[in-house]
Amino acid sequence: MTSEQVRDWIRRFADVVAEHRTELVRLDTAIGDGDHGTNMDRGMRKAVEKLDGTEGGDIGADLKTVGMALVSSVGGAAGPLYGTLFLQMGSAAAGKSELDLDGWADAVEAGVKGVQARGKAEPGDKTMVDALLPAIAALREGGDEAEALKRSADAAEEGMKATIPIEARKGRASYLGPRSVGHQDPGATSSYLLLRAAQEAFA
Ligand code: ADP
Ligand code: MG
Repeated sequence: MTSEQVRDWIRRFADVVAEHRTELVRLDTAIGDGDHGTNMDRGMRKAVEKLDGTEGGDIGADLKTVGMALVSSVGGAAGPLYGTLFLQMGSAAAGKSELDLDGWADAVEAGVKGVQARGKAEPGDKTMVDALLPAIAALREGGDEAEALKRSADAAEEGMKATIPIEARKGRASYLGPRSVGHQDPGATSSYLLLRAAQEAFA
């Protein structure tokens, strides 16, 4: 995965978040305060704007640029959590102009560890972590790169859908208790979109 592909991944994610903004708002309206789509859209627009002002070449530096843009432009829970994801991915990929499949898995894993360190969510708490963790496991199975990336996006999709029947234990949705059951988690949905965008960018 080249530095140019990583930049393409970020742009694709920004596009897909913009396309799905209304859906993310609808999901967050059901079990939160309805701002997830607008939060992510604003943050990713800012991230792309910042990326466009840099040369590229260093994957770690680009990912940190994205993380900083999210932390500084998005309030609420998901902004700082996504910011941490990208900042930690950036640390794991510092100084690299290319990543192989293991390097990509290492970066994603570092990012998700950061999210968990910050937000304290465990699997099954009905958060973005439920989409992200299965994706790492799928990447670790190795094999053909394109297949592994598809597997990881598929695993994130399953993890996202698995948030529907469970009760939220972290974030705003947890205030609803049992009433959060039956709704798909907005953050898990945007995280699934992130991994599907990776599959497409690195194809
Ligand atoms: P807010 O909840 O502050 O309005 P958003 O609506 O942008 O922020 O994001 C909500 C999403 O953030 C949730 O759907 C969930 O996936 C994620 N989230 C909330 N709290 C946590 C946490 N502690 N750990 C991981 N993810 C979390
Ligand atoms: Mg919200």
